Amino acid sequence: MNDDYDRYDLLVVGSANADLVVEVERRPAAGETVLGSDLAVHPGGKGGNQAVAAARLGARTALLARVGDDAHGTLLRDAQRAAGVDTAGLLVGGAPTGVALITVDPSGDNSIVVSPGANARLTPEDVRAASGLLAAARVVSAQLEIPLDTVAEVVRALSQDTRFVLNPSPPAPLPAEVLAACDPLVVNEHEARVVLGDAAGETPEEWAHGLLALGPRSVVITLGAEGALTADGRADSCVRVPSPKVAAVDTTGAGDAFTAALGWRLGLGEELAAAAAYAVRVGAAAVTRRGAQSSYPTASELPPAPA
Ligand code: ADP
Repeated sequence: MNDDYDRYDLLVVGSANADLVVEVERRPAAGETVLGSDLAVHPGGKGGNQAVAAARLGARTALLARVGDDAHGTLLRDAQRAAGVDTAGLLVGGAPTGVALITVDPSGDNSIVVSPGANARLTPEDVRAASGLLAAARVVSAQLEIPLDTVAEVVRALSQDTRFVLNPSPPAPLPAEVLAACDPLVVNEHEARVVLGDAAGETPEEWAHGLLALGPRSVVITLGAEGALTADGRADSCVRVPSPKVAAVDTTGAGDAFTAALGWRLGLGEELAAAAAYAVRVGAAAVTRRGAQSSYPTASELPPAPA
């Protein structure tokens, strides 16, 4: 038995980005320059978001990610540490820190250019070198803002006792070995439709059945204000999990908070629908405040479950 097993409730393997946000009256056409607001820099990336969300809830959390040897990398490390995330697995160098260049127009619509930078240099070799970190986690959570080869290496490195949670975002075709490890595969409506393609069907229950047929051990579909749907693979196992009703201000990063909370609660031994019932409270709290990491609640700030 590995003595270190159980050091972390959740290990997040994923991206860390600096989000650079400027508000504009309108977007520039080709060759044109427009003036915008002062620059705001926020820590982001799906991996960084998930790690902060879990740590803020009280989970013992570590992040395996890569940033550049630059000021954005320092900002991201500081944000993780401030939330209580163990950053021993936050690797440095190889390329500039990933950035998302975001313009927001007066209607609130975003246009985003992502430069993956160091995220694209998180390699299978980095995963092998972090075997101690992987062996110390009850649950490992990944997304697809890092190379798919790296995610596949994570799956190969999992011990039998370690649960794997994947949010395939941005959505991409997944190899069978990765799908088979997912417990659960967590998707929003858009990701479900992309993964399923023409065979998607119309209802979340149909999507869940279609996704289960691809091989994951279980599936969770997030449904925005409607909450989520879980399916653990047994016949007729679809469960609708309603969300608390809240006044939504900004849904940025809500899915990341949901997935992190779900993974943590599963590692504590909760059943899938119970873990999702906790996670929708976390997602609901996150949409009541602006930003991604800045919107994430502590455990004492969660709205009650719907009656
Ligand atoms: P994503 O953020 O990936 O687009 P969703 O929109 O499905 O995914 O949201 C993820 C989770 O965040 C939902 O399952 C829910 O828990 C919460 N959430 C999102 N929007 C709302 C809302 N308007 N009211 C309450 N909860 C919400």
